[in-house]
Amino acid sequence: MISIKGLEVNYGNQLALSVDDLHIGAGEKICLIGKSGSGKSTMLECIFGLREYEGEINRNIQNISLSLQKSDLIPNFTVKTNILMGRFGGRSFFRNLASICKHEPMVDEVLESLNIPEKKNQYVKNLSGGEQQRVLLARALYEEKAVYLLDEPTSALDVANSRNAIETLLSNKADCTVMCAIHNLSLISFFQRIIVMKGGKIVLDDAVANINVEDMGAYFDD
Ligand code: ADP
Ligand code: MG
Repeated sequence: MISIKGLEVNYGNQLALSVDDLHIGAGEKICLIGKSGSGKSTMLECIFGLREYEGEINRNIQNISLSLQKSDLIPNFTVKTNILMGRFGGRSFFRNLASICKHEPMVDEVLESLNIPEKKNQYVKNLSGGEQQRVLLARALYEEKAVYLLDEPTSALDVANSRNAIETLLSNKADCTVMCAIHNLSLISFFQRIIVMKGGKIVLDDAVANINVEDMGAYFDD
């Protein structure tokens, strides 16, 4: 599904990412962890094609959804429109316009599943950071892609909402490939595979079932 060989990203003479060989199979559910600055965002953004890199990444970018750490929602549009935009890429202008004007039950469903059904017609600019983060997730839930890359999608949510959001995402995208940078150790158990980054390199890549979550604390900031 995605294979990476000899990937390297440098900023000046500082190494940001170096991955010799990584294969991500279809349907895998992977959490990416590591301290701030360890290269998680760089990795996800390289796979999506947002950053320049050396080396090889084989994947079909058309099939990939990326939810960025910094929200790319449109502040002056409503929550509903921002969610609908998750499918804009693959449809005609008129189909997209029509979707804005009519009732889309799935928009209600995804907002309901993330506990913010009442925000549908509000402007994104009026939402709190945690609410905006859930709109980003709602847009990903609404999208129709084969691969979902998410960069710390629950960093502004409390533990209960974080767990709910990750569970919802993984069950909604059960057939898809999901790679998610996470900051909260309690979320690791929802995934099948864990990749730990340090100084731009992968220092651990294993089945979640094989690791002891307490040992992972050393890789985190707090
Ligand atoms: P993480 O997502 O794990 O916090 P990043 O991938 O954002 O880590 O960053 C990896 C390294 O690359 C860090 O040392 C960071 O400072 C550096 N870096 C990221 N983006 C840039 C940039 N645009 N210019 C210079 N350095 C950058
Ligand atoms: Mg990051």
